Amino acid sequence: MSTDCIFCSIVAGDIPGRIVHEDGEITAFLDANPLAPGHTLVVPDEHTRRLNDLPDDTARELYEAVHALVPAIESAVDADATTVAVNNGEAAGQEVPHVHWHVVPRSADDGGGPIHGAFGDRPDLADDELDGIADRIRDAR
Ligand code: 5GP
Ligand code: ZN
Repeated sequence: MSTDCIFCSIVAGDIPGRIVHEDGEITAFLDANPLAPGHTLVVPDEHTRRLNDLPDDTARELYEAVHALVPAIESAVDADATTVAVNNGEAAGQEVPHVHWHVVPRSADDGGGPIHGAFGDRPDLADDELDGIADRIRDAR
């Protein structure tokens, strides 16, 4: 636990949170400043800054919880869909440095658009650049 982390404090019960799931490894609670009714954050109980730092088993447990919560959240707020996303690192907009999946209920007329809307111009990549990127990702695994 990190003493100055807001999500660690919610997991520990030191500050109030509207908890919707807890199993000793993973906790989910309503976002305090929701983008839509039912906006939920799903976090590992262990303080971990980024997805990259999660142990494999915790990563699996975290996604299992997301997987179970998505239909429950959609049903609870009668949503048509959800945007499920992680701001993974400060440069990607992560403000709270404790891994969290966002599950944001969506409807066709909510004006939110797809995640693609967060980006401006797209890079124009030649085939050989794309081949090189795919090779480097495969090699890095
Ligand atoms: P990030 O930008 O790091 O991906 O998202 C952080 C999220 O945490 C935001 O959606 C914000 O509303 C939420 N948040 C920040 N502080 C608190 C808090 O004290 N309690 C809860 N429940 N959510 C918080
Ligand atoms: Zn934390």
